[in-house]
Amino acid sequence: CLSKPSDFNEDTIRNYYSEPNYDFYFTNELDKLRNEKRYREFVDIERIAGQFPEAVWHSSEGERKVTVWCSNDYLGMGQNPAVIEAMVSTARRNGVGAGGTRNISGNSHPIVALEREIASLHNKEAALVFSSGYVSNQAAISTIARLIRNCLIISDAGNHNSIIEGIRQSGCDKVIFRHNDLDHLELILRGAKDRAKIVVFESVYSMDGDVAPIADICRLARRYGAMTYLDEIHAVGMYGARGAGIAEAEGVEDLIDILEGTLAKAFGVVGGYIAASSSIVDVVRSCAPSFIFTSALPPASAAAATASIRHLKISEQERAAQKRQVAKVKSMLTKANLPVVDNGTHIVPVLVREAQACKSAADRLLDKHGIYIQPINYPTVPKGLERLRITPSPLHSDAQILTLVDALEEVWTTLGLKRTAWQAAAE
Ligand code: PMP
Repeated sequence: CLSKPSDFNEDTIRNYYSEPNYDFYFTNELDKLRNEKRYREFVDIERIAGQFPEAVWHSSEGERKVTVWCSNDYLGMGQNPAVIEAMVSTARRNGVGAGGTRNISGNSHPIVALEREIASLHNKEAALVFSSGYVSNQAAISTIARLIRNCLIISDAGNHNSIIEGIRQSGCDKVIFRHNDLDHLELILRGAKDRAKIVVFESVYSMDGDVAPIADICRLARRYGAMTYLDEIHAVGMYGARGAGIAEAEGVEDLIDILEGTLAKAFGVVGGYIAASSSIVDVVRSCAPSFIFTSALPPASAAAATASIRHLKISEQERAAQKRQVAKVKSMLTKANLPVVDNGTHIVPVLVREAQACKSAADRLLDKHGIYIQPINYPTVPKGLERLRITPSPLHSDAQILTLVDALEEVWTTLGLKRTAWQAAAE
């Protein structure tokens, strides 16, 4: 849980019970989450390969067919036949587990091949794969910054929790610059002229779907002698001629010192990575505890990720079809006067702006319309900016888009939800 334990009087508890009632600590916290309408419920969804975005919902009343509109398997690659075949055939050949950490018998040829593929995708000397994108940020940032003497980490205010954890674990000084604000960034860089520094930021921000001015940030960082660390988790596979991300699309890969990505979203599998110079990759490999002391990715997952990267490197089809469906969804939602956030990416946030209403909207979409969209509440987004985050894929049909828009319209009207535009909400 991200919040501190609630303040209740421990003496009262100890006096009341003859022995400490440890469970009280946990139930108390859960009650607090429920009261604040932040208690998380997971929907029991089963994706059926070959049928996405349709899936089976195992509800209390039995199985129901639903349409998924919130998957981060953005391009449906988790069901791509070549990717599935790579995973299945590698599992048959190599077995299902890695057999240990990379140091102790867990290294495998499919992981080595995957790292070569990633390095080549991003035009970097080397790459290193981790068990998730979360771990890659936390491990790489904490290790790299810790090794640089007197390093200042300059971090965008919108950065993901995995980045924040990496910064915290580095023990380095940090300064936060206002989200995507070049003037503020420059002010901080100018004030830290005489020391080592890393600017850490993302390309596509996952909740608003806005994009960082990567080229400008990199040029500023260069001017003031800072290293750059870019999280492209929501962009790899999706943007650029070979699916290498926004840095590729803008032709600024060379200005990024460390590029971080995931294999779990557009590539449809699991795992995270960094791509950088040989010495950076080698030092993270050699010194990051959360790389060293954990079991490696299974060879079959690595082989599936390689197949997915190779496919998206040469196939424009998924990206093009997705762009078309995203444009249709955005334009139809706007016409229906629903409060969709305007951005230039594949992420379609529709603001509800209140936690309970957001949950009620998601429940009604699922129950009445067979549409699955997970509500996004605090702390994933700030209070007052709760939302439904819609992610159209190339596999959503025009008929499914029509059903989605009609269903949202019905839910907004029935629940009397606000239709306030983004600008007003952002203030
Ligand atoms: N960085 C960002 C910006 C993210 O949004 C996420 C997860 N949504 C991660 C890192 C972690 O990636 P993964 O799911 O591969 O652990």
